[in-house]
Amino acid sequence: MNFIIILSVLLFFSISGQVNKQHKKERPVIDSHLTLSEALMGKEIPKPNTKNLKIIDVEYYSFDNKLHTGQVVIHKDLAKDIIEIFALIKEKKFPIKKVIPINYYHWSDESSMKDNNTSAFNYRVISGTRTFSAHALGRAIDINPFLNPQVKNGKVFPKGAIYNQYTRGTLTRNSWLTHEFYKRGWRWGGDWKFTQDYQHFEKSK
Ligand SMILES: [Zn+2]
Repeated sequence: MNFIIILSVLLFFSISGQVNKQHKKERPVIDSHLTLSEALMGKEIPKPNTKNLKIIDVEYYSFDNKLHTGQVVIHKDLAKDIIEIFALIKEKKFPIKKVIPINYYHWSDESSMKDNNTSAFNYRVISGTRTFSAHALGRAIDINPFLNPQVKNGKVFPKGAIYNQYTRGTLTRNSWLTHEFYKRGWRWGGDWKFTQDYQHFEKSK
């Protein structure tokens, strides 16, 4: 009899232990879960601009300190770099607000930036010009754009953003994250002469 009681007590603890373990395994907050064709909806884009694109799932800790999963639409040649870099972002818990393909913002870079959303592919010209941006081929990514705005002729984009290198999630020339991009042959917009685009990394062919 006693033996049976001891056995059932042991069984109870081993089951509750397993349940506890399952609870501890973090379930990410899903920020984006789309197919590539869903992520490209809502805009007419020439085939040459989309034929090399890939959508990749990435995980990161957001400013709520919770693990999130989002998606990056990027040129296939750069997918490996982005996967490696996001693995480090997760490991080091560098905060990324959210990573949602730009069509969620109706293809508006302005809205995405204001929402501090990280994104890569966008079929658009460089603001204020007629030249297509590296984003139009999926060869550029903007990280935490509200914390890392673009500064041009003394004006800040998006409006209301403040670049403060001491704020978490902000990029500088000395950030480990900037160096991970440099190492893989990417250029950082913060190094540009006539405008500083602190959110922007690109890698041309
Ligand atoms: Zn950019």
